[in-house]
Amino acid sequence: MNLERRTKKSSKRSVLVTGGTGYIGSHTVVALIAAGYNPIIADNLSNSKASVLKRIEKITGKLPLFYKIDLRNTTALNKIFQKNSITSVIHFAGFKAVGESVAEPLKYYENNIQSAISLCKVMDRHKVKKIIFSSSASVYGEASANPIKESSATATTNPYAHTKLIIEEILKSVYVADPEWRIALLRYFNPVGAHESGLMGEDPQGIPNNLMPYISQVAVGRHKKVNIFGNDYPTVDGTGVRDYIHVMDLAEGHVAALKKIDTTIFSVPRVINLGTGKGRSVMEILRAFEKASGKVISYRITKRRPGDIAVCYADTKLAKKILGWKTKRNLADMCNDAWRWQSQNPKGY
Ligand code: NAD
Ligand code: UDP
Repeated sequence: MNLERRTKKSSKRSVLVTGGTGYIGSHTVVALIAAGYNPIIADNLSNSKASVLKRIEKITGKLPLFYKIDLRNTTALNKIFQKNSITSVIHFAGFKAVGESVAEPLKYYENNIQSAISLCKVMDRHKVKKIIFSSSASVYGEASANPIKESSATATTNPYAHTKLIIEEILKSVYVADPEWRIALLRYFNPVGAHESGLMGEDPQGIPNNLMPYISQVAVGRHKKVNIFGNDYPTVDGTGVRDYIHVMDLAEGHVAALKKIDTTIFSVPRVINLGTGKGRSVMEILRAFEKASGKVISYRITKRRPGDIAVCYADTKLAKKILGWKTKRNLADMCNDAWRWQSQNPKGY
């Protein structure tokens, strides 16, 4: 079935990057500038720092335009669209901590869903109808088979993942009402690593929830040991298996998706996995990080983390077919770059 129609090729474009001072957003801004786009950032700095902007400038030679706004503030958002000729949007902004979403569900529903609705309303008002949305592999829950295809059933198990699925549905409905919209719903697997310069990376507030930043912080002495959440899973060594993807590969995946929606009309909103297609266990990650850092990483095995699944890795065929994109960086690159960032910036930005 032919799902796409070719359209006229576009020239250099202004792209609104919501959440652009955050971890994935900031790396994507660097990739966008490298690809000749003009990124404009909107972020309320609830989980990021403005100092990342100087790092972007240091890497790219360009200080991106930045607006400190909450996306739910439709009036402030509208002003950004009035002042700039924005042609497309990459929507990263949102809260992302699974555990916190279980403890404070309303905070997650309110922020993530209201932000998306506010954004779509303002985009519609300004006839900007191209959007790439940050969805997540968490929408699959415990998939019945790996690698996980986009056609796999969704089975969300926490409010964070529910918000991702709800926003996907909102965007699909927006498309049904107006098929001029071009929508890419990108489901990320486990983004890790940092820009190769060591100037930008992941800077979690408080104790990291995710494995790689926790290991990095143990390596620089901020914590004593990594807690490995269970070694009795049916996996290669009993520890959980995930699809870790280098954040710059992920960033470049967005550039590929943007080029695609700039030049092609998707006849339906497209759901696309962004991952490497390879599963790695917690122990494999820990050992690879030891190699990259030259440090011994102490660990202890603790009980399973509630809600965790055994194995999750992507089927990447669709990304290759539709976007002509696949990952270039390997696990050693992920660990070397994460270590360069963490060792040069032990306390983050
Ligand atoms: P991040 O927290 O580093 O970045 C998100 C940014 O959004 C932050 O800078 C925050 O200040 C901003 N923000 C939040 N609510 C806002 C609001 N109402 N108005 C304006 N700005 C707001 O997170 P990240 O890791 O860069 O993730 C980016 C996106 O990718 C998120 O939507 C996340 O759910 C999704 N995602 C992340 C992962 C991951 O493991 N990092 C995996 C899958 C999907
Ligand atoms: N994990 C761990 N210790 C930690 C954090 C995570 O053992 O401090 C494990 C977790 O059980 C999972 C994998 O590492 O198997 C990746 O977890 P993360 O939170 O980074 O990502 P998730 O896939 O859960 O979104």
